[in-house]
Amino acid sequence: MSVAHQLASLKSRLPQYVTLVAVSKMHPAEAVQEAYDAGQRIFGESRPQELREKYDLLPKDIEWHMIGHLQTNKVKYIAPFVRMIHSVDSARVLEAIQKEAAKCDRVIDILFEIHVAREETKTGWNYEELETYLKEDPFASMPNIRVRGVMGIATNTDDEKVVRGDFEQLRAHFEALKPRFGAEFDTLSMGMSGDYPLAIECGSNMVRVGSYIFGARDYSKK
Ligand SMILES: *Cc1c(COP(=O)(O)O)cnc(C)c1O
Repeated sequence: MSVAHQLASLKSRLPQYVTLVAVSKMHPAEAVQEAYDAGQRIFGESRPQELREKYDLLPKDIEWHMIGHLQTNKVKYIAPFVRMIHSVDSARVLEAIQKEAAKCDRVIDILFEIHVAREETKTGWNYEELETYLKEDPFASMPNIRVRGVMGIATNTDDEKVVRGDFEQLRAHFEALKPRFGAEFDTLSMGMSGDYPLAIECGSNMVRVGSYIFGARDYSKK
């Protein structure tokens, strides 16, 4: 099936208020162009260098989202153009984003990635640690960062009860943090190819979908 066909099929299943981030990681720029030609403008990538390469090659009205774990020394590759960083999982990376955004005289939208999955390996803040960190009022000195919401990844399992539990927890964290940040804290990024319908049922308003649109990723090539 073509990228355009898959994209149309997915879009027809998403409520109007849900923003689609098309995850193009490990797919060539041509595949992104195909989705772009079919009308998609928001794309997500998980490696800074790959994101930078695609930014250089592709139309400049694409809105690029960083969704993968970000090392502090890589922020500089994407700071000049990235629209939103979903994967903010530590104070160190926040400080690095502030510093690089200031150098470019930009304000960068970020989401807190919160760990809820049962796997040990998944990244993200422990919620209690995030709360403790926020009590220090770090954003008083971060004028180049705009906090827009929460991102999370559910446990990788077929057990729907577990996945639903993870999404409900993310939703609860999102609601709990909202009063602190106000109206611009409006984004709950959860749901991927395998679980986006459930994520939407649980309150997601931004889904990050890759393989459904672009097909399976070939991990043997990199
Ligand atoms: C790869 C990735 C996705 C997309 O996954 P698919 O299963 O291909 O839809 C979404 N979110 C994050 C954080 C990812 O790394």
